[in-house]
Amino acid sequence: MDPLGWLLVVGGVLALLVVADRVVARLPPRPRRPDDAPGVRPGGGSGMFGELVEILQPSARHLHEEQERQRHDLVLPGDADPPWTVDLDAGTAVVPGAVPHAGHGVRQDGGQDGGQDARQDAGDAGEHAGQDAAPDGGRETVPGSPRGPRELATSAPHLIQLAPGVWVTTSQPWSTTTTVVAGPGGRCLVVDPALTPADLDALAAELAGRGWSVEAGFSTHPHWDHVLWSTRLGDVPRWATPDAVARAARTHAELVAEAGRTAPGHDAALLGRLDPLDGEEVPWSGPRAVVVPHRAHCPGSAAVVIPDAGVLLAGDLLSDQEIPLLDVDSPDPVADHLAALDALEAAAARWAVEVLVPGHGTPTDAAGLAEQLAADRAYLEALRAAVGGTAAGSSVDDVVDDVVDRRLVDPEQRDHHAHQLAALRRRGGVRDPS
Ligand SMILES: [Zn+2]
Repeated sequence: MDPLGWLLVVGGVLALLVVADRVVARLPPRPRRPDDAPGVRPGGGSGMFGELVEILQPSARHLHEEQERQRHDLVLPGDADPPWTVDLDAGTAVVPGAVPHAGHGVRQDGGQDGGQDARQDAGDAGEHAGQDAAPDGGRETVPGSPRGPRELATSAPHLIQLAPGVWVTTSQPWSTTTTVVAGPGGRCLVVDPALTPADLDALAAELAGRGWSVEAGFSTHPHWDHVLWSTRLGDVPRWATPDAVARAARTHAELVAEAGRTAPGHDAALLGRLDPLDGEEVPWSGPRAVVVPHRAHCPGSAAVVIPDAGVLLAGDLLSDQEIPLLDVDSPDPVADHLAALDALEAAAARWAVEVLVPGHGTPTDAAGLAEQLAADRAYLEALRAAVGGTAAGSSVDDVVDDVVDRRLVDPEQRDHHAHQLAALRRRGGVRDPS
């Protein structure tokens, strides 16, 4: 074909395109997509030429799609990374290693549903409550879950995973923590199961629902709220230090009575029935559970470290909600408590602990652990100063406010504090008129 022929062909094609475009432009507009608002399509022309423009400007189309994607993302819940991930199989929030540390808080007493209370408690726990992913704190608002918040809130398991293989649940009153350490083959170690008979039933049901079976228990110390058990958890060894076993046996009637006042209905035969530990680790088939015995709070006390998970189970020490509660019957309660803090700090360093689980209060991370150690030491030093530094003749009321501690906003903690102060002053021979 000669050049004139080519020219005619090209001209004809262009003419056809112009005609086609006119025709298309007269057709009724195609239905608009909801997000296809006028003017939002950069580079968009009308009719066939419009489509050609888009084809010839892939960057314009890309830009549009990118803008659409970003606009879409802006309104999607959960496009910011939450501090936890969601285990869709288990329906739980998984907090990897670090748990936001809660500030001061007044604990929520009351006998409502444990999960509800725990959420309430986490929400009230302090100035960091908004980012609090502590036990149950994230359950109501777990983003991106296909099940939706309502279903999660009602059917999600009670247990929250804090570290690999370590799960906790919190019961009321006193934000009492139950810990489950998962081992191979669904076997688990349950530490300080608490608090009401209904709580233990729910725990047993949840473990069964997961296909887990309890291989052993451990009690951090022989107070009633740490030596509870249920037949539904199984007839297994329940380890504790030899001193704790002896004390629980000796004070059995007392423990049963105390439990009955706060959490009636526990099986008295099982309460406080413990097995003496022989060695430094809880004998069971799962991850190592290293026992750190100490003299604080109560004879026979021990913390537990799970080295593989980097978790410290502190029993009734290092709580963000409770002041150091002394064993006032000891010859030197403050020294005992300070020595225990040293022992726990050394154990945490030795085993590279990243998660602190207090027996009462909010689990926290390594920074929270350091903060808690400092807070407990500061309380003990201030208490000691208040006992020793005041003139004879002054009353507990005169010095009770010499100790400043954010946990003392809780009236119950204030009572404990006044009681400890009075006991130590009596021991020191200082007159105590109260
Ligand atoms: Zn306790």
